[in-house]
Amino acid sequence: MGLDYDDQNIFARILRGEIPNDTVAENEHALAFRDIAPKSPSHVLVIPKGKYVSFDDFAANAPVEEIAGFMRLCAEVIAKEGVGLDGGRGFRAITNAGPDGVQEVPHFHLHIMGGRMMGPMVS
Ligand code: IMP
Repeated sequence: MGLDYDDQNIFARILRGEIPNDTVAENEHALAFRDIAPKSPSHVLVIPKGKYVSFDDFAANAPVEEIAGFMRLCAEVIAKEGVGLDGGRGFRAITNAGPDGVQEVPHFHLHIMGGRMMGPMVS
């Protein structure tokens, strides 16, 4: 059992098809789509299709198949966006969790950001 999950959060609604999204890639376990307010030339959010509130919830409670599916979709996004170290210039992958992490949407998501040099990890 994971954390209490809000079925009305915006990413849950995207997964149910109630809100459109700009899909980059998808597999059985995860969906990747462009952030609506991109902070870099490439800014993609990868979310599991299961109901996990945060990284710690996902890491502790998701079946390994789901974790593997999520990670492989991240790899697909990185390759598609051309930001991987196999020919690209790199990227930043971050996740915000809870109040101190300033998480806005309570469905676990990884931000994959690239296409420019990132600033220092200060705030
Ligand atoms: P958080 O602070 O890590 O929870 O970030 C949530 C992210 O979701 C922000 O970067 C928002 O711009 C993004 N976002 C919010 N609503 C949508 C949407 O409907 N489509 C795509 N991205 C969204």
